[in-house]
Amino acid sequence: MSISMSDVPFKERVNAALQNPDRLRAISSGAEAAFVKRNIVLESLPDPDATRDLARQIRAHTIAHLDRYLAEFEANLTANGGQVHWARDADEARQIVLDIATRVGAKRVAKSKSMVTEEIRLNAALEAQGIEVWETDLGEFIAQQAGDHPSHIIVPVMHLTRQEIGRVFHEKLGAPYTDEIPELNLIARRTLREVYLSADMGITGCNFAVAETGSICLVTNEGNGRMVTALPRVHVAVMGMERIVPTLDDLSVMLQLLARSATGQKLTVYTSLVNGPRRPDEEHGPEEMHVVIVDNGRSRALASDLAEILYCIRCGACLNVCPVYRAIGGHAYGSVYPGPVGSVVSPILGGVPAFADLPHASSLCGACKDACPVRIDLPTLLLRLRRETVKQGQQPGWLSAGMKGYRAVATSPGRFRLAARLGALFTRLTGGRWFRGSLPGPLGAWTRYREFPPFARKTFQQRWQERSRHD
Ligand code: SF4
Repeated sequence: MSISMSDVPFKERVNAALQNPDRLRAISSGAEAAFVKRNIVLESLPDPDATRDLARQIRAHTIAHLDRYLAEFEANLTANGGQVHWARDADEARQIVLDIATRVGAKRVAKSKSMVTEEIRLNAALEAQGIEVWETDLGEFIAQQAGDHPSHIIVPVMHLTRQEIGRVFHEKLGAPYTDEIPELNLIARRTLREVYLSADMGITGCNFAVAETGSICLVTNEGNGRMVTALPRVHVAVMGMERIVPTLDDLSVMLQLLARSATGQKLTVYTSLVNGPRRPDEEHGPEEMHVVIVDNGRSRALASDLAEILYCIRCGACLNVCPVYRAIGGHAYGSVYPGPVGSVVSPILGGVPAFADLPHASSLCGACKDACPVRIDLPTLLLRLRRETVKQGQQPGWLSAGMKGYRAVATSPGRFRLAARLGALFTRLTGGRWFRGSLPGPLGAWTRYREFPPFARKTFQQRWQERSRHD
């Protein structure tokens, strides 16, 4: 199953997003505020650059030895009483979770935030089996009630105003309308408390899995991760197979960067390590704990020149700083994963043809690379994917023909000189006026927002020769 959220072409999705300036303002200011906080709090580290370098080394080492650390994690979690399941793709991952839910007779599931369960479309599969699914992360809860999708990997409803949220709660939960944030929180809390107490199964994601202890680490600001892992009879964690770190020391490096980069906090309010199900001498906790390790295209990435994207710790900083994300918002990407990281991850996981436009939805300004706590070279990965879209024939025919023509001219001094002279002559004959209008055909999209500069009336070579004569 594709991770695409829409069959509508990219440009139409962008145009639709642009029709809603209130939402775009909410996204732009939310992203900017998060990034400003990130800058301040990151600097509070004794040596931010050294920490980022170390984090990158840890991620690079882990991804290069993924087989070893995943096996170590499985052995240790099994020794703790947990069970590990391996899913090659989204279908297998969904089936594993469905089988567990059916076996334990789950009628109601409480979920904490998890991008990978969005990726594998888990909610729809559970609901199709008659199982009630409740998102418990506040942002995800709002998105679910609104029948909407997350537009940001950290702040799922960055695109919604509090007035919109007030209306959703009024219509869907029967609560009196309010746009006061504390009251909205209370409405969600009252609804979810009952869900925690009655859910048969808790499903979480996994921010990191620690190989040496067989633990999974969850970071939340609302404490819902603890409720979901502690109260229901069964806990299932779904993790992308790259989300592993070798040791607790490595985890501490990642945690120093994750919250700072994501929300500008030194640490999230709750950082939970779950080591397995309830032990015989423990009074509380789930009877069963399962971890589903999902590949779903990650092995393909590992074997390619895009493997660096697996270093990602899903902090969202690259979204917050990206001028394109800020201008069009998350839904326009049409993928579970938006922004610069999504423009790389989506074609890898969902296929280049389905997401051929995304690697081009970047100015390649490099802000994402600067912001990334593990220094992923996103612009280079985007360029590699652009090359891949061309190889796979996803570039429009007129553009391929145009680039071939340009190459024929630019690689021959004689043809280049002739073309420059023709351009200069054309400018002189038309007084440069023709270029001030819109260019013909698909090139018109470029001149809709800017002027096409006229060619110089004399070519550079002509001016160079004239200057040499006078010297
Ligand atoms: S690519 Fe880097 S900045 Fe973007 S979400 Fe991943 S870790 Fe964060």
